[in-house]
Amino acid sequence: MSSAISFKEVRKTFPPTTKALDDIDLEIKEGEFLVVVGPSGCGKSTLLRLVAGLDKPTKGDIELFGKNAASIEPQDRDIGMVFQNYALFPHLSAFDNIAYGLKVRRESQPEIRKKVETVARKLEIAELLKRKPHQLSGGQRQRVALARLLARDPKIHLFDEPLGNLDPQFRTGMRIELARLHKENQRTTLYVTHDQTEAMTLGQRICVLQNGQILQIGSPEEIYEKPAHRFVAEFFGSPGTQCIDGKIEHSPNRESRFVSDKLSLNLPESQLPGGSITLGIRPENWEFVSAENAALKAIILGVENLGDHRLLEMNAGNQNIYIKTSKSDIYEKEEIFVSPLWNKVSWFERYTGKRI
Ligand code: ATP
Repeated sequence: MSSAISFKEVRKTFPPTTKALDDIDLEIKEGEFLVVVGPSGCGKSTLLRLVAGLDKPTKGDIELFGKNAASIEPQDRDIGMVFQNYALFPHLSAFDNIAYGLKVRRESQPEIRKKVETVARKLEIAELLKRKPHQLSGGQRQRVALARLLARDPKIHLFDEPLGNLDPQFRTGMRIELARLHKENQRTTLYVTHDQTEAMTLGQRICVLQNGQILQIGSPEEIYEKPAHRFVAEFFGSPGTQCIDGKIEHSPNRESRFVSDKLSLNLPESQLPGGSITLGIRPENWEFVSAENAALKAIILGVENLGDHRLLEMNAGNQNIYIKTSKSDIYEKEEIFVSPLWNKVSWFERYTGKRI
């Protein structure tokens, strides 16, 4: 697959000192759905604005289908964008909002009508086309904004937190719909969000951004199971990976232990170097075992019933630990015996946060 969007050592600074993007190298393939995810202020919107041509890089190049974007005017980039705040024209009806880009392109009236009505049916807003934005709910407005993009059918689709203003139950439906639409139209899509669930469910690949730098690019499975950085491990999952700072100790009888201020765990085998380290373990990666095989004896402090599973807060040697389990016969103050699923834990360098 050829490259649709590529960032080559792209930096964007805002005076006096903000480095919104710091030497970004990123390639989005033609037809790919790539999600850029990260906390507020990490540079997500800046990244989109550069692609759309609403802003220019301070350094480096962006290429669109192999051509330097600096030589393409924003209106000639064949890009459509959907924003969190919908950005609809308030004085125009839903129909005219959707038709806007087609009118600018001077398409014929019958052609415009056909395209608007087709996307409106697809997005189930055909009955609402006469209404103005203030007569529509948030979810309906978002559909109009999406219909406007689909009617024009640009080569690149950009989404900036498009579901941010929707109620959680609408978000799930829209996520499924966006994935379905992409499957149908196969347009190159760059989608930014701070929501890890959206990233996981929508992205064919995910790019995790922090402080203007890429921490990891990979498939949802890679990001979840092999986080390249402690931040990525903690960011994904609900709750995310629990990270415990400590050190590895090797004893003369070749036994190894992970030791923190509050916890000591015997390791089954260890090729890890001795010294400072961070252990990362997901709440679902503990198993209940017999007392003699247990890495930890713990007391349950709290049980949260989440329907299909329980989230346990437990205490072992003064360390609070979170466990997700499908067990239902489990109660506060109970004593339990658990061990990590060692083949699923992650280890990180303590001071850089990088995966070992
Ligand atoms: P959010 O999720 O809150 O929208 P974001 O990840 O999209 O955040 P950006 O809007 O890209 O982040 O901003 C990245 C950094 O650049 C932030 O520190 C922001 O304050 C700064 N920034 C963005 N635009 C400007 C500007 N026009 N002038 C100065 N600083 C800016």
